Amino acid sequence: MTRILPDDLEYSVATRAVHAGQEPDPKAGAVMPPIYQTSTYVMEGLGRHKGYDYARSANPTREAYERNVASLEGATHGIAYGSGLAALDAVLKLLKAGDHVISEANIYGGSARMMREFYIPLGLEFTFVDARNIDTVAAALRPTTRLIFSETPTNPMMRLTDLQAMGDLTQAHGLLLVVDNTFATPIFQQPLSYGADIVLHSTTKYLNGHSDMVGGMLVCHREDLAEKLSFIQMAGGAIPGPMDCWLALRGAKTLPLRMQQHDRNGRAIAAWLAERDDVPKIYYPGLPSHPQYDLACRQMSGFGGMISFDLEDPERARRFVEGTRIFSLAESLGGVESLVNHPASMTHASVPQDMRAEMGLTDSLVRLSCGIENVDDLISDIDRALALAGRRTEVSL
Ligand SMILES: *Cc1c(COP(=O)(O)O)cnc(C)c1O
Repeated sequence: MTRILPDDLEYSVATRAVHAGQEPDPKAGAVMPPIYQTSTYVMEGLGRHKGYDYARSANPTREAYERNVASLEGATHGIAYGSGLAALDAVLKLLKAGDHVISEANIYGGSARMMREFYIPLGLEFTFVDARNIDTVAAALRPTTRLIFSETPTNPMMRLTDLQAMGDLTQAHGLLLVVDNTFATPIFQQPLSYGADIVLHSTTKYLNGHSDMVGGMLVCHREDLAEKLSFIQMAGGAIPGPMDCWLALRGAKTLPLRMQQHDRNGRAIAAWLAERDDVPKIYYPGLPSHPQYDLACRQMSGFGGMISFDLEDPERARRFVEGTRIFSLAESLGGVESLVNHPASMTHASVPQDMRAEMGLTDSLVRLSCGIENVDDLISDIDRALALAGRRTEVSL
């Protein structure tokens, strides 16, 4: 747990991305915080040290990264974990058997798997809802409800939660609101400003942005929560290593720049896809045809590079994802390079078939993570792969 300097927030996000949380190294004046690749720290005497005793509890490289990301979200505390899922695990450890959680149904597949496989057997109760409708969320409330978990936009169906309405609901009932902000990033959406208590990131994705580490982060501005979460970080032990913290800190410096380009490419590619008659269903919050476009414009200042579309034929989808050259067929998202993914067999394979069907996550759905390459090159690549995919095969009965 690290507290950022209060005056950091006086600066704009582009300035904070580069500087927040970092001071020149006291030994040599190194501009970049060193990678403190150490497991322990020498003591000056019994009970006397410089604030660092063992690297599971504290590491200066990790602290710089925590302060930096906290500052980007407008939070006072950042607590880093070894992966996005380890961060979610820390959130769920705040609860105890008998507590009830309401979660958006279309969350990242691994998040839902953790809730089902580990926390239901331990006695937590979950209701998975379509959080697009706040009345559905309110109807799921129980006297034992403690936490609402939202992901917006969702992966991969691009559903949005109305953050203002959700913040009002959770505050009226004294519940914790936790928002996975991995897709939008603090550059485009700041859930804490709508009353969220904790924001979760898979820093593996846009925050690091270079597909070269795995990490997670929780940020908050409540002292009591920060204390509990950093106790879980230290006592649970799911910490990131110093090298990964350093990489993510380096990545975060260019987050505002990168997000501008992801957003420009995302918008252009979504608009281009929308013109085609062979791509019937497109899910992108920045398209006026998205059912929650108005909400997207209210609570997001950009729409990013994630686009899903349905090719209405699993064979066409297979030919498409195997046909791109610049878009690599791979899990993950948010890196500078463009990726293509088949959620039903890859990122969301662990979601039960009936849940997938209910949310429209079909076997013909394809997800793009548009990188920062030249947009014309990306469009030509998609164009060529769509030609290879061909038309829908009519099923004869
Ligand atoms: C990838 C992802 C996660 C999980 O993060 P890991 O770093 O892979 O553990 C959680 N939420 C969202 C939205 C993700 O895309």
